[in-house]
Parts: sequence; C-alpha cells; structure tokens
Amino acid sequence: MSLIDPVTYTGAEPGKRLLVLGAVHGNEKCGTFAIQRIIREIESGDIKIARGSVTFVPICNKAAFDADVRYIDRNLNRFLVPHSNPTLNEEKIGNELCPLLEQCDVLLDLHSYTVGGDPFVFIGAPDTEEHIFANCLGGAAGITGWAKAYAASGRESVPTDPDESTGTTEYARRFGAMGVTLECGQHRDENAPAVAYQAIRNALNYLGLCDDLGAGASPLMSRLIEVKRVFFRGQGGDFTKGWKHLEPVKKGEVIATDEHHEPLSVPDDGYLILPHRDTHAGTEWFYWGQARVSARPKIA
Ligand SMILES: [Zn+2]
Repeated sequence: MSLIDPVTYTGAEPGKRLLVLGAVHGNEKCGTFAIQRIIREIESGDIKIARGSVTFVPICNKAAFDADVRYIDRNLNRFLVPHSNPTLNEEKIGNELCPLLEQCDVLLDLHSYTVGGDPFVFIGAPDTEEHIFANCLGGAAGITGWAKAYAASGRESVPTDPDESTGTTEYARRFGAMGVTLECGQHRDENAPAVAYQAIRNALNYLGLCDDLGAGASPLMSRLIEVKRVFFRGQGGDFTKGWKHLEPVKKGEVIATDEHHEPLSVPDDGYLILPHRDTHAGTEWFYWGQARVSARPKIA
C-alpha cells in the first residue's frame, strides 16, 4: 500500500516529466488544494496533457496533514535519501518519494510558510534554466544566494552530513532534474491555493506539456533578492517588532537586539528575509538581502 498515492497523466507525444508535490510539510495545504483542482480539470478534460507526463502527489505526508502539523517524527525535507531500514514515518515516505524524484526532469514543490508576506520561490543559482523556469511560475519574488551568504557570515552553517540538507529539490538535482520550491504564502493565506494553482498551470504551459492553457498565465517574477547576510540569534535576542518576510528595511534600521541588548541593524537598504520568531540561541534567526537590478534571468 502506498503512503503517498501518486497520480500520473501521460501525453501521446514525448516530452518533459514534471513532478508536483503538495504537503511535504503536513500543515502546508495550499499545494494539495491546487493539485486536487488541477486533477479535477484533467479528469474532466478541461486540461489535456499533450506530451510528456505530469505526476502529482497531492499529500506527501498524510499523517502530518491529518494532524495539521509540520511532521510526525522529523522534517521530511531533510535527510531525504533512501533508507534501508525505515522506521520513522518520514523515512518510509522518503523511500516512496525518492524514486519519483529520481525519475522526474522538473520538480515543482509547493509549500507555505509561517510569517506573513508575499509568495516567493527558492532558486539554486541565478541565470540558469532553473531560474527561467522559476520566473515563469508567477509573480512571486525569487530568493537566491544562500551559499554565498553563509560563506560571508563566517559561520560554518552547512551541516556536516550532506544528507541532512538534502530535501526534495536537492535530491532531484542529484539526478539531473531542475527543482524549485514555491512558498505560496502564509499557511492560512486564503490566496495561497490560487498562487499554487496558477504556478502548476504556468509550469504545464512553460514545459510544453499542454498546448494552450490560455492567457493570464505568466506574470513574471516581481524581483530577485540575493541573500547577503545571515544573522544568528544570541541568548535573549529579541526582534524590535513583528517583522514580515520580504519587508523593506533601510540602511541602519534596527531589526532586533542581541544578547547584550545592543541594537542589530542592517548594513544597507534592502529586504528582511524569513524572520524566525521561535528560533533557538546560536541558530539562524533572520537574513538580509538586496534586490538584483533585473529579476529576469540573463542567459549568455
Ligand atoms: Zn514547507
């Protein structure tokens, strides 16, 4: 019996193999609703898969989805590699997800997030085909530059076990796929399922799986933000207010106070990225970055 119940639709002609995942984190349900809506439209004939194939997993983590929690035993989006003796719920799911990730050409992983703010998409590297694909998904902001920002922070934040940082996109990339994670909005944002729905349509269109899904399908990426600095939380560190993700900040603006109650400010005009309210001392707390002049990918 399958834990993830994948559904595949195949076109008559050859083409790309797209994999769309929902609810990798059980309390992030917008992707599930969007996938179910798209499946209904394919089943009714409103959307016709002409070439290639698309595989949907509407709910990757069913037990967590039913309990409305992020995960049961551990984060499914870490250590996502095959396990020879799976015991944890997420290891068993991982063993079913990995073959799908190995076989796809393109992965679209649909998530939502805790703090309020606009949708955004994680891009591995700018000015790549992956960036072009991410750009087609919708009006979300792109975020890139993590590796450089960690290096600049002078802290060894990269886990010692490379599998620890392996989630859906990282595992799919190991097998040559493009993979993006789209954060469609806050968990309870009622617009998030529509963002996810439009992104799936845009992906089907962009990859040529469908002949014509109609206009209105391609608002381009609004901006691309490069992470420039990682801030770590000190003991007793506190935010000065309830910051939102991608909130614009000015040079010298005080974001938080550190363990000595000294102000922590940003070095230049830019954006606050993913402020984590409930993070532990010594771990990543928030990020600061700046917009690239052009959000559109430039390919030489
Ligand atoms: Zn998530």
